[in-house]
Amino acid sequence: MLILIQRLIVKMTNPISFIVFMINSVKINTLMAFLVFIVISGCTVKTVPQIMDRPSQNKWAEVCSTWDDWDKPGPPFRIYGNSYYVGTCGISAILITSNDGHVLIDGGTEAGADIIAENIKSLGFSMNDVRFLLHSHEHFDHVAGLAKLQELSSAKLFASPEAAPVLQSGIASKHDPQAGMHEEFPTSKVDEIINVGQSLTLGNLTFLPIATPGHTLGALSWQWQSCENTECVIIVYADSLSPISHDSYLFSEHPQYVDDYKKGIRNLSLLECEILLTPHPSASKMRKNLLSPEGLFDKNSCKNYAESITKRLQKRLIQEKTNDQIH
Ligand SMILES: [Zn+2]
Repeated sequence: MLILIQRLIVKMTNPISFIVFMINSVKINTLMAFLVFIVISGCTVKTVPQIMDRPSQNKWAEVCSTWDDWDKPGPPFRIYGNSYYVGTCGISAILITSNDGHVLIDGGTEAGADIIAENIKSLGFSMNDVRFLLHSHEHFDHVAGLAKLQELSSAKLFASPEAAPVLQSGIASKHDPQAGMHEEFPTSKVDEIINVGQSLTLGNLTFLPIATPGHTLGALSWQWQSCENTECVIIVYADSLSPISHDSYLFSEHPQYVDDYKKGIRNLSLLECEILLTPHPSASKMRKNLLSPEGLFDKNSCKNYAESITKRLQKRLIQEKTNDQIH
Protein backbone atom coordinates (compact mmCIF):
# COMPACT_ATOMS: atom_id res chain seq x y z
CA MET A 1 0.00 0.00 0.00
CA LEU A 2 2.86 2.33 0.96
CA ILE A 3 4.59 1.60 -2.34
CA LEU A 4 1.37 2.35 -4.20
CA ILE A 5 1.12 5.77 -2.46
CA GLN A 6 4.78 6.49 -3.20
CA ARG A 7 4.24 5.60 -6.88
CA LEU A 8 1.14 7.80 -6.97
CA ILE A 9 3.09 10.78 -5.59
CA VAL A 10 5.86 10.27 -8.18
CA LYS A 11 3.32 9.98 -10.99
CA MET A 12 1.39 13.09 -9.85
CA THR A 13 4.43 15.26 -10.51
CA ASN A 14 4.03 14.44 -14.20
CA PRO A 15 0.42 14.91 -15.47
CA ILE A 16 0.70 12.51 -18.46
CA SER A 17 2.25 9.68 -16.50
CA PHE A 18 -0.34 10.35 -13.78
CA ILE A 19 -3.23 9.76 -16.26
CA VAL A 20 -1.54 6.63 -17.64
CA PHE A 21 -0.98 5.45 -14.11
CA MET A 22 -4.64 6.05 -13.22
CA ILE A 23 -5.90 4.17 -16.29
CA ASN A 24 -3.56 1.27 -15.63
CA SER A 25 -4.08 0.95 -11.94
CA VAL A 26 -7.71 1.91 -11.30
CA LYS A 27 -10.82 0.21 -12.60
CA ILE A 28 -12.44 2.21 -15.38
CA ASN A 29 -15.69 2.86 -13.44
CA THR A 30 -13.69 4.19 -10.47
CA LEU A 31 -11.88 6.54 -12.87
CA MET A 32 -15.23 7.74 -14.26
CA ALA A 33 -16.48 8.44 -10.74
CA PHE A 34 -13.27 10.37 -10.06
CA LEU A 35 -13.74 12.51 -13.20
CA VAL A 36 -17.42 13.16 -12.40
CA PHE A 37 -16.36 14.25 -8.92
CA ILE A 38 -13.81 16.71 -10.38
CA VAL A 39 -16.45 18.20 -12.73
CA ILE A 40 -19.11 18.48 -10.02
CA SER A 41 -16.79 19.97 -7.43
CA GLY A 42 -15.50 22.44 -10.04
CA CYS A 43 -19.06 23.56 -10.81
CA THR A 44 -19.95 23.89 -7.14
CA VAL A 45 -17.02 26.21 -6.49
CA LYS A 46 -18.01 28.38 -9.45
CA THR A 47 -21.65 28.87 -8.50
CA VAL A 48 -21.58 28.87 -4.68
CA PRO A 49 -18.31 30.22 -3.30
CA GLN A 50 -17.09 28.74 -0.07
CA ILE A 51 -18.49 30.59 2.86
CA MET A 52 -15.64 31.39 5.17
CA ASP A 53 -15.74 32.01 8.86
CA ARG A 54 -19.09 30.38 9.45
CA PRO A 55 -18.35 30.20 13.21
CA SER A 56 -18.13 34.01 13.51
CA GLN A 57 -21.21 34.43 11.31
CA ASN A 58 -23.10 31.99 13.54
CA LYS A 59 -21.89 33.86 16.62
CA TRP A 60 -23.48 37.09 15.32
CA ALA A 61 -26.74 35.22 14.69
CA GLU A 62 -26.54 33.81 18.22
CA VAL A 63 -25.98 37.18 19.90
CA CYS A 64 -28.31 39.31 17.72
CA SER A 65 -32.01 38.84 17.03
CA THR A 66 -33.78 39.58 13.73
CA TRP A 67 -35.03 43.06 14.72
CA ASP A 68 -32.56 44.18 17.31
CA ASP A 69 -31.54 47.36 19.14
CA TRP A 70 -29.59 49.90 17.13
CA ASP A 71 -26.95 50.30 19.86
CA LYS A 72 -26.62 46.68 20.95
CA PRO A 73 -23.07 45.39 20.39
CA GLY A 74 -22.77 42.43 18.07
CA PRO A 75 -19.58 40.52 17.20
CA PRO A 76 -17.96 41.47 13.87
CA PHE A 77 -17.65 38.83 11.18
CA ARG A 78 -16.16 38.31 7.75
CA ILE A 79 -18.82 38.62 5.07
CA TYR A 80 -16.58 37.41 2.26
CA GLY A 81 -12.94 37.99 1.36
CA ASN A 82 -11.88 41.45 2.52
CA SER A 83 -15.44 42.59 3.45
CA TYR A 84 -16.45 42.57 7.11
CA TYR A 85 -19.62 43.34 9.04
CA VAL A 86 -18.62 45.69 11.86
CA GLY A 87 -22.02 47.18 12.74
CA THR A 88 -24.22 46.67 15.78
CA CYS A 89 -27.03 44.10 16.06
CA GLY A 90 -29.54 46.55 14.56
CA ILE A 91 -27.52 48.85 12.27
CA SER A 92 -25.01 47.79 9.61
CA ALA A 93 -21.52 49.16 9.05
CA ILE A 94 -19.29 47.50 6.46
CA LEU A 95 -15.50 47.52 6.44
CA ILE A 96 -13.61 46.68 3.25
CA THR A 97 -9.89 46.25 3.81
CA SER A 98 -6.78 46.54 1.65
CA ASN A 99 -3.04 47.06 1.98
CA ASP A 100 -3.59 50.66 0.85
CA GLY A 101 -6.08 51.40 3.61
CA HIS A 102 -9.67 50.55 4.45
CA VAL A 103 -13.11 51.83 3.52
CA LEU A 104 -15.97 52.04 6.00
CA ILE A 105 -19.57 52.37 4.82
CA ASP A 106 -21.89 53.93 7.43
CA GLY A 107 -21.20 55.00 10.98
CA GLY A 108 -24.31 54.00 12.94
CA THR A 109 -25.71 56.19 15.70
CA GLU A 110 -23.58 58.36 17.96
CA ALA A 111 -23.34 55.51 20.50
CA GLY A 112 -22.98 52.95 17.73
CA ALA A 113 -19.74 54.58 16.52
CA ASP A 114 -17.86 53.31 19.58
CA ILE A 115 -19.11 49.77 18.96
CA ILE A 116 -18.05 49.98 15.29
CA ALA A 117 -14.56 51.23 16.26
CA GLU A 118 -14.24 48.41 18.83
CA ASN A 119 -15.35 45.83 16.26
CA ILE A 120 -12.76 47.10 13.76
CA LYS A 121 -10.03 46.85 16.39
CA SER A 122 -11.12 43.40 17.55
CA LEU A 123 -10.73 42.13 13.96
CA GLY A 124 -7.11 43.26 14.19
CA PHE A 125 -7.44 46.38 12.02
CA SER A 126 -6.46 49.89 13.01
CA MET A 127 -8.82 52.88 12.86
CA ASN A 128 -5.82 54.86 11.55
CA ASP A 129 -5.89 52.74 8.41
CA VAL A 130 -9.50 53.66 7.60
CA ARG A 131 -9.05 56.11 4.71
CA PHE A 132 -12.56 56.58 3.28
CA LEU A 133 -15.90 56.98 5.03
CA LEU A 134 -19.01 56.46 2.88
CA HIS A 135 -22.72 56.55 3.63
CA SER A 136 -26.03 54.93 2.72
CA HIS A 137 -28.79 57.44 3.59
CA GLU A 138 -28.50 60.62 5.63
CA HIS A 139 -30.53 59.72 8.70
CA PHE A 140 -29.04 59.80 12.19
CA ASP A 141 -29.19 56.01 12.69
CA HIS A 142 -26.61 55.55 9.89
CA VAL A 143 -24.58 58.77 9.82
CA ALA A 144 -24.60 60.29 13.34
CA GLY A 145 -21.56 58.17 14.23
CA LEU A 146 -19.52 59.38 11.25
CA ALA A 147 -18.30 62.47 13.19
CA LYS A 148 -16.74 60.28 15.89
CA LEU A 149 -15.31 57.80 13.38
CA GLN A 150 -13.85 60.66 11.36
CA GLU A 151 -12.18 61.95 14.52
CA LEU A 152 -10.78 58.50 15.37
CA SER A 153 -9.45 57.78 11.89
CA SER A 154 -8.81 61.10 10.10
CA ALA A 155 -10.48 59.39 7.12
CA LYS A 156 -11.81 61.35 4.18
CA LEU A 157 -15.60 61.62 4.27
CA PHE A 158 -17.40 61.33 0.92
CA ALA A 159 -21.02 62.35 0.53
CA SER A 160 -23.61 62.64 -2.23
CA PRO A 161 -24.48 66.26 -3.19
CA GLU A 162 -27.85 66.01 -1.38
CA ALA A 163 -26.50 64.29 1.74
CA ALA A 164 -23.50 66.61 2.20
CA PRO A 165 -25.44 69.58 3.71
CA VAL A 166 -27.28 67.19 6.04
CA LEU A 167 -24.03 65.63 7.33
CA GLN A 168 -22.52 69.07 7.82
CA SER A 169 -25.55 70.54 9.63
CA GLY A 170 -26.83 67.50 11.51
CA ILE A 171 -30.36 68.38 10.40
CA ALA A 172 -32.47 66.45 7.89
CA SER A 173 -33.33 68.25 4.65
CA LYS A 174 -36.72 70.01 4.63
CA HIS A 175 -37.45 67.99 1.46
CA ASP A 176 -36.80 64.69 3.27
CA PRO A 177 -40.01 62.64 3.50
CA GLN A 178 -39.20 62.21 7.22
CA ALA A 179 -38.30 65.88 7.82
CA GLY A 180 -39.08 66.93 11.38
CA MET A 181 -39.17 63.38 12.71
CA HIS A 182 -35.54 63.08 13.83
CA GLU A 183 -33.32 64.78 16.38
CA GLU A 184 -30.23 66.73 15.41
CA PHE A 185 -27.00 64.74 15.28
CA PRO A 186 -23.25 65.54 15.53
CA THR A 187 -21.93 67.23 12.42
CA SER A 188 -19.08 65.87 10.34
CA LYS A 189 -16.89 67.51 7.73
CA VAL A 190 -17.50 66.39 4.16
CA ASP A 191 -14.20 66.23 2.26
CA GLU A 192 -15.46 65.26 -1.16
CA ILE A 193 -18.70 65.15 -3.09
CA ILE A 194 -19.47 61.86 -4.79
CA ASN A 195 -20.13 61.80 -8.50
CA VAL A 196 -22.91 59.27 -8.67
CA GLY A 197 -22.26 56.60 -11.28
CA GLN A 198 -18.53 57.28 -11.21
CA SER A 199 -16.35 54.72 -9.45
CA LEU A 200 -14.43 55.60 -6.34
CA THR A 201 -11.04 53.96 -5.89
CA LEU A 202 -8.62 53.45 -3.04
CA GLY A 203 -5.58 51.43 -4.11
CA ASN A 204 -6.97 48.25 -5.60
CA LEU A 205 -10.46 48.76 -4.12
CA THR A 206 -13.20 50.07 -6.44
CA PHE A 207 -16.69 51.12 -5.40
CA LEU A 208 -19.59 52.08 -7.61
CA PRO A 209 -22.06 54.53 -6.02
CA ILE A 210 -25.65 54.22 -7.23
CA ALA A 211 -28.20 56.95 -6.54
CA THR A 212 -31.16 55.33 -4.80
CA PRO A 213 -33.25 58.21 -3.43
CA GLY A 214 -36.53 57.34 -1.74
CA HIS A 215 -35.85 56.99 1.93
CA THR A 216 -33.89 60.26 1.65
CA LEU A 217 -32.85 62.55 -1.21
CA GLY A 218 -29.13 61.76 -1.06
CA ALA A 219 -29.37 58.02 -0.44
CA LEU A 220 -26.70 55.86 -2.06
CA SER A 221 -26.24 52.16 -2.66
CA TRP A 222 -22.78 50.67 -3.25
CA GLN A 223 -21.39 47.85 -5.36
CA TRP A 224 -17.91 46.30 -5.12
CA GLN A 225 -16.10 43.03 -5.53
CA SER A 226 -14.45 40.91 -2.85
CA CYS A 227 -12.25 37.90 -3.46
CA GLU A 228 -11.07 34.87 -1.56
CA ASN A 229 -8.08 33.38 -3.33
CA THR A 230 -9.31 33.36 -6.93
CA GLU A 231 -13.05 33.31 -6.16
CA CYS A 232 -14.64 36.75 -6.40
CA VAL A 233 -18.17 37.82 -5.59
CA ILE A 234 -20.07 41.03 -6.25
CA ILE A 235 -21.43 42.61 -3.09
CA VAL A 236 -24.16 45.26 -3.04
CA TYR A 237 -25.00 47.41 -0.03
CA ALA A 238 -28.47 48.57 -1.06
CA ASP A 239 -30.13 51.43 0.76
CA SER A 240 -33.28 51.13 2.88
CA LEU A 241 -35.69 52.46 0.22
CA SER A 242 -38.86 51.92 2.24
CA PRO A 243 -41.52 54.64 1.61
CA ILE A 244 -41.70 55.95 5.18
CA SER A 245 -42.63 59.57 5.85
CA HIS A 246 -43.91 62.21 8.21
CA ASP A 247 -47.73 62.14 8.45
CA SER A 248 -47.96 65.37 6.46
CA TYR A 249 -45.84 64.14 3.53
CA LEU A 250 -47.41 62.56 0.45
CA PHE A 251 -45.12 60.93 -2.10
CA SER A 252 -47.78 61.48 -4.77
CA GLU A 253 -47.35 65.25 -4.35
CA HIS A 254 -43.71 64.90 -5.48
CA PRO A 255 -43.87 63.22 -8.91
CA GLN A 256 -40.24 63.99 -9.79
CA TYR A 257 -39.07 62.45 -6.52
CA VAL A 258 -41.18 59.33 -7.16
CA ASP A 259 -39.70 59.07 -10.68
CA ASP A 260 -36.15 59.23 -9.31
CA TYR A 261 -37.16 56.76 -6.60
CA LYS A 262 -38.40 54.27 -9.22
CA LYS A 263 -35.32 54.81 -11.37
CA GLY A 264 -33.05 53.98 -8.43
CA ILE A 265 -34.99 50.78 -7.67
CA ARG A 266 -34.80 49.77 -11.34
CA ASN A 267 -31.04 50.38 -11.42
CA LEU A 268 -30.67 48.29 -8.29
CA SER A 269 -32.65 45.41 -9.81
CA LEU A 270 -30.32 45.38 -12.84
CA LEU A 271 -27.11 45.26 -10.82
CA GLU A 272 -24.91 42.24 -10.74
CA CYS A 273 -25.23 41.21 -7.13
CA GLU A 274 -24.26 38.00 -5.37
CA ILE A 275 -24.41 39.15 -1.76
CA LEU A 276 -26.96 41.75 -0.67
CA LEU A 277 -26.44 43.81 2.47
CA THR A 278 -28.69 46.58 3.78
CA PRO A 279 -28.30 49.41 6.37
CA HIS A 280 -30.84 47.63 8.58
CA PRO A 281 -29.69 44.00 8.52
CA SER A 282 -33.27 42.78 8.89
CA ALA A 283 -34.26 44.40 5.54
CA SER A 284 -32.14 41.84 3.68
CA LYS A 285 -32.95 39.05 6.19
CA MET A 286 -29.29 38.89 7.18
CA ARG A 287 -29.73 36.78 10.32
CA LYS A 288 -31.94 34.23 8.55
CA ASN A 289 -29.48 34.05 5.65
CA LEU A 290 -26.47 33.66 7.95
CA LEU A 291 -28.13 30.60 9.43
CA SER A 292 -29.06 29.09 6.05
CA PRO A 293 -26.83 26.58 4.17
CA GLU A 294 -26.13 29.13 1.39
CA GLY A 295 -25.25 31.88 3.87
CA LEU A 296 -25.44 35.38 2.41
CA PHE A 297 -24.86 34.19 -1.14
CA ASP A 298 -27.87 34.71 -3.44
CA LYS A 299 -27.60 35.86 -7.05
CA ASN A 300 -31.23 37.01 -7.14
CA SER A 301 -31.11 39.02 -3.93
CA CYS A 302 -30.99 42.52 -5.48
CA LYS A 303 -33.71 41.65 -7.97
CA ASN A 304 -35.95 40.25 -5.23
CA TYR A 305 -35.21 43.19 -2.94
CA ALA A 306 -36.10 45.67 -5.72
CA GLU A 307 -39.34 43.80 -6.38
CA SER A 308 -40.41 43.89 -2.76
CA ILE A 309 -39.60 47.63 -2.51
CA THR A 310 -41.55 48.31 -5.73
CA LYS A 311 -44.58 46.58 -4.22
CA ARG A 312 -44.28 48.65 -1.04
CA LEU A 313 -44.06 51.89 -3.00
CA GLN A 314 -47.04 50.94 -5.19
CA LYS A 315 -49.05 50.07 -2.09
CA ARG A 316 -48.13 53.39 -0.49
CA LEU A 317 -49.12 55.38 -3.61
CA ILE A 318 -52.46 53.55 -3.82
CA GLN A 319 -53.03 54.17 -0.12
CA GLU A 320 -52.38 57.90 -0.58
CA LYS A 321 -54.85 58.01 -3.47
CA THR A 322 -57.52 56.11 -1.52
CA ASN A 323 -57.10 58.30 1.58
CA ASP A 324 -57.31 61.39 -0.62
CA GLN A 325 -60.62 60.22 -2.04
CA ILE A 326 -61.98 59.60 1.47
CA HIS A 327 -61.14 63.17 2.64
ZN1 LIG B 1 -32.49 53.68 9.26
